[in-house]
Amino acid sequence: MPHNRNPFELFLFTLVGPDVPKNWCGLKEMIGEMWFSQVFGQWGWLIALSIAIGVNVPIFVWARIKRHLTLFACLMAGFFGIAYWIIHPIFYVLLFAFFISSSILTNYRKKDKKDIQDKFEKGGERDTSQVLANGLGGFIFAVGYLLTFLLTTNIIISNAFIFAFIATIGTVNADTWGTEIGILSNDQPYWILNLSKKVDRGTSGGVSLKGTAASFIGALIVTLVALLIEIFWKSPVPDVSTWQIYLFIPLTSIFGFIGGIIDSMFGASIQGFFECTVCGKGTEKREHCGEPTKLLRGNEWFRNDHVNFSASFIVGILMFGVSCFAFLL
Ligand SMILES: [Zn+2]
Repeated sequence: MPHNRNPFELFLFTLVGPDVPKNWCGLKEMIGEMWFSQVFGQWGWLIALSIAIGVNVPIFVWARIKRHLTLFACLMAGFFGIAYWIIHPIFYVLLFAFFISSSILTNYRKKDKKDIQDKFEKGGERDTSQVLANGLGGFIFAVGYLLTFLLTTNIIISNAFIFAFIATIGTVNADTWGTEIGILSNDQPYWILNLSKKVDRGTSGGVSLKGTAASFIGALIVTLVALLIEIFWKSPVPDVSTWQIYLFIPLTSIFGFIGGIIDSMFGASIQGFFECTVCGKGTEKREHCGEPTKLLRGNEWFRNDHVNFSASFIVGILMFGVSCFAFLL
């Protein structure tokens, strides 16, 4: 590579790759390059699809019966699950780690959380927009991975999409862990925009030591699952030297943790926060005590789901950029 490229050209070079587009080949050849064809052979797609349906349908039926998800949220999560699995199992396993750990944490000491959850816009049952908020960012990176993997020979960029995905799921997991454990903390949380100020428990943008530690563990778990996949199945991050993988996968947990902090900051600033006109309590709800609430701060239309999506997507893009550049070193 010539040394006189400026950073912008370097970035474009990374995106497009040295010898792309890959010679266009038919659908059959592309399917032949996917992981399931490599593992199971000619009918791999059918086997992979059957496994995806066989594994996902019982899980989401269970999630519906247990009231973890509403019906449409179930269908949406099922679609993400099957699509992630077909694109690459690493995406699926990470989403699954998030889904399981957040379902368990939501149910953990559920009774103790009841009063505080009154502040939140939504309760324990996750709806479609919550599934989109937590899954859409990752889906964009997974599709990015698929397209660059199939249409270019640039492994740097398809790997960068994987790292971006890990950081995105790390962020949503950090947020869920931080929230579910943080609201159980007996200490009054500090306001993230001004740490000398204290706020009511359960306020978006309030941070506690316990919640922050839980948030880091949430991001770390996603990273550890990714590392385990990498150790036991070499294929997800192919053709890069070991030191880069062992540098970048841990880096994703730091990005996920930062994502959780960005999430809290958005929650404290741009997210709409309301006050009940009857009982005077602060809440994320548009309605309280049967009356419409009054906007206290933030944007009325910017809800918790928007916060989750934007924080996780921003962190994914940052992680993507960092891994693109660093792989050129
Ligand atoms: Zn009220």
